[in-house]
Amino acid sequence: VRHIAVLTSGGDAPGMNAAIRAVVRKSVYHGLKVSGIRHGYAGLIAGEIEELDVGSVADIIQRGGTKLYTARCPEFQTSEGQEKAVEMLRQHHIDGLVVIGGDGSFRGARALSHRGVRTIGVPGTIDNDLPCTDYTIGFDTAINTAIDAIDKIRDTATSHERTFVIEVMGRNAGDIAMIAGLAGGAESILIPEAPFNMEQVLEKLERGMERGKRHSIILVAEGVGKGMKIGEQIAQRTGWEVRVIVLGHLQRGGSPTAFDRALASRMGAMAVDLLIRGETSKMVGIRGTKLIATDIDEALDTAHEIDLSIYELAGVLSI
Ligand code: ADP
Repeated sequence: VRHIAVLTSGGDAPGMNAAIRAVVRKSVYHGLKVSGIRHGYAGLIAGEIEELDVGSVADIIQRGGTKLYTARCPEFQTSEGQEKAVEMLRQHHIDGLVVIGGDGSFRGARALSHRGVRTIGVPGTIDNDLPCTDYTIGFDTAINTAIDAIDKIRDTATSHERTFVIEVMGRNAGDIAMIAGLAGGAESILIPEAPFNMEQVLEKLERGMERGKRHSIILVAEGVGKGMKIGEQIAQRTGWEVRVIVLGHLQRGGSPTAFDRALASRMGAMAVDLLIRGETSKMVGIRGTKLIATDIDEALDTAHEIDLSIYELAGVLSI
């Protein structure tokens, strides 16, 4: 490989900048040419490609978001769009591509690799909803943002003796709700992977009140349903004052944690190593403390799994 390009695609995540920096600097270290593609696959099709050097990625390791911007691009899901992308890469003499993004972005990466472009995926999404890796870049920052919010809400919940429902991100995966709920000491956690019975949730809340608890925090993953609706159900049943907070895009922002910066730096560098070795159609992941590479086909055919023993523990500890 002689010329590597990097793009970020889909939902942004804190730590993407640290991954871009690692791809650029590791490439330069090995004497390769390296370019950044703006606005994900949309920018690739449009030719928004610019050569980067060591200085281009200075002062971004601590910044949230992505310097290369991100986009969603329906055109890239058509074969005409993909052909345009391949042609653009050929015109720029790019022979290796690093895609930083989530599940959808990896489907795009697979399509490119099937068209002969050497492509490596780096998992960047706050949801942690990818298989073949214990962590995705951005998840640790997002759960820290969430517990920061929970702690603050707890202060006012305690003072006013109120019940709060906090809705966090996670359409298909309850990772954010589960870990932030455990770490934030939420009374109840509702996630898509674990069937719950609203009646039992309400009974638990009432039991808590009977033994003198004056406030409660219920964490809801957005995939389970609207926090607002769950708040209404609780208010109707109990007659308590219930407040609902939707954390929303707050969870996507902020300076990445040390964990995310280190993970992103390692994963970005590994993507370059894989391209140098002539690999393609792989996704980088972490198992325990070791980085691994998995076939992107295998990754896309495997379901993301959540460790429900952690969910059960959160239930035990919030009894
Ligand atoms: P994420 O990567 O965060 O899951 P999306 O699902 O929005 O985000 O995907 C990002 C982009 O990846 C899409 O806008 C599209 O350009 C591309 N993409 C998604 N699915 C496919 C697919 N099946 N084939 C080709 N490209 C895809």
